[in-house]
Amino acid sequence: MKSTGGPLNYVNGHYAISDPKKSVPVIALIYKHKPKSKSELELLIEYHFKNKCSCGIISQGTIIDFGTNLYNAHLKEYGVEKFSLQECIAWEYELFITNSMKGAFMEEKALTMLSTSFPLLKITRASGFFDEDLRIDLIIYKGDKVVCGIQVKPSSYLNMRQSIINYNLSCNSKWSNVVLYLVYENDIFSNFQYIVNSINQFIVSLK
Ligand SMILES: [Zn+2]
Repeated sequence: MKSTGGPLNYVNGHYAISDPKKSVPVIALIYKHKPKSKSELELLIEYHFKNKCSCGIISQGTIIDFGTNLYNAHLKEYGVEKFSLQECIAWEYELFITNSMKGAFMEEKALTMLSTSFPLLKITRASGFFDEDLRIDLIIYKGDKVVCGIQVKPSSYLNMRQSIINYNLSCNSKWSNVVLYLVYENDIFSNFQYIVNSINQFIVSLK
């Protein structure tokens, strides 16, 4: 998330501009329609705002709308124009388009690598309630028992404000299972071995 930090990050979080219910569940959209490029994803978001797609995903607007929401929220927050409308639109573009394409790619990579490490476990992609309300990306099962949940996050997430991290943790805690954070920097998972070790420990303690 190279250009999605700073004051706009605060406003975006505080006003929940990119909350899936107020914007678009973009990762779900990516998995449904598998866009090959950023411009294709941008068009998909617009399509799911203006049309009723059979996939059931609804967008509350376009990237321009989300940028405009951010712009208006920042005016409300600071009382003066600190960023232009164009900057706010570019910020939401980076978050929804650039980071989401990267996030979906890394989530897929995590799923593949964990499946290879644990061929006897079932690993599924979380969706709907699990993804949006509990903030979990992957769920690992042994038979019909949940081993743990996995969140796949860029390393920049670790530098985010504590309140955002706490919010995610409180979402996670609505679930009775452990949620582990698998962290990536560029294309590399920095704590993959730690996650593997943790999963092995959980399996042992599963009754
Ligand atoms: Zn669709």
